[in-house]
Amino acid sequence: MYTTSYKLNVRSLNKRTSLDLIRFTPGGIARAEIARRLGLTRSAVTVIVKDLLENGLVREAENITLSGGGRPVALEIDPSRGYFAGVDIGVSHLGLLVTDFSSRVILDQELAFNLSVKPDQSLEFVHQSLVGILERSGLGFEDLHAVGIGVPGPVLEEAGAVSSPPIMPGWDLFPIRDTLEERWRLMVTLNNDAELGALGEWAFGAGRGCSHLVYIKVGSGVGAGILIDGVIYGGTLGLAGEIGHIPVREDGPGCACGNYGCLEALAGGKAIARQAREAVMKGRRTHLSRIVPPEAITAKDVVAAARLGDILAQEIVKEAGMYLGIVIANLVNLLNPSMVVVGGGVAQMGDLLLQPIRQAVQERSLKSAAKCTRITAAVLERRSTSLGAVVQAQNAVLDQIMEIA
Ligand SMILES: [Zn+2]
Repeated sequence: MYTTSYKLNVRSLNKRTSLDLIRFTPGGIARAEIARRLGLTRSAVTVIVKDLLENGLVREAENITLSGGGRPVALEIDPSRGYFAGVDIGVSHLGLLVTDFSSRVILDQELAFNLSVKPDQSLEFVHQSLVGILERSGLGFEDLHAVGIGVPGPVLEEAGAVSSPPIMPGWDLFPIRDTLEERWRLMVTLNNDAELGALGEWAFGAGRGCSHLVYIKVGSGVGAGILIDGVIYGGTLGLAGEIGHIPVREDGPGCACGNYGCLEALAGGKAIARQAREAVMKGRRTHLSRIVPPEAITAKDVVAAARLGDILAQEIVKEAGMYLGIVIANLVNLLNPSMVVVGGGVAQMGDLLLQPIRQAVQERSLKSAAKCTRITAAVLERRSTSLGAVVQAQNAVLDQIMEIA
């Protein structure tokens, strides 16, 4: 992921790293600061920046002059260089956004979605939805450099497909990336949604500048994106971070993966909805009993009821938070991250979910590790994954441009 396997010489590598500093420093960065941060001479940076200016990737910010000697001018990404789209494919939602070259969001949208229909039908819906949002942005496919896509399953990056995804039945090894590239005649990048969430929050959200970060996506399923030393940790095949299938309770309910008592089966959106339905059917007092039939109750309903003070809904959410906290406590002991960012649809309820997580982490991880780990909600909310998808798509495009240059 992020720092890709550069087939670049040292000069191109310095150029690429300088460009990333310009991309991810809020408010832009001056030449002298780039030189200082990368340990390069001023004249080397002058040459690099001249190249980037000539390439049209970077521009001098008009109204921002940074403090310090010699009236330094801030450099920023030239937003007019072209556009990107980011797509977050969820089990029950589809998030889309269009950004300019500086990753500024022009338009975004969230639609109800059903991932359990056949892949080609699902991808047709993704296509139509992207056509729609592009039209409303006054753009066409020819204006896009690339489209970044996130999916809720383990992604084999080389193949552009998912591998035995527990909550994406029927998608095993379906060529998602190639199908869309052929259709759109554009570069498409495909990654796991939680990994992209980590990347999005690191680039523009809660985890800015934080190089040891874990992003936990709590949607219908549960997954983690692990950033170690500023690089996404993918494991041997890129399948790392599947924390939803860490067993937490031996006598727990069956999970989509075939095991029992997995975190996802206790704390994922599907599990939250199932617990609410079962409680309503048992006659528990709750506002959720107004939803008929009880089978229609979704995790979104439980989140909304919990926010309004419904005791049953709050109990369910609190328990989910406790189980998430147990697994996060293990991650804190294992990885010693400086930040854990909790995002995804279920995490929209904020402190109701975060409080039991924090408590479990405090009780169950090493005091010294817990002390230096901040646990916080995703700043980009539902956009963490789709913005991360844009960052990843742009990485691929910039790699390509730099290799040619
Ligand atoms: Zn499982």
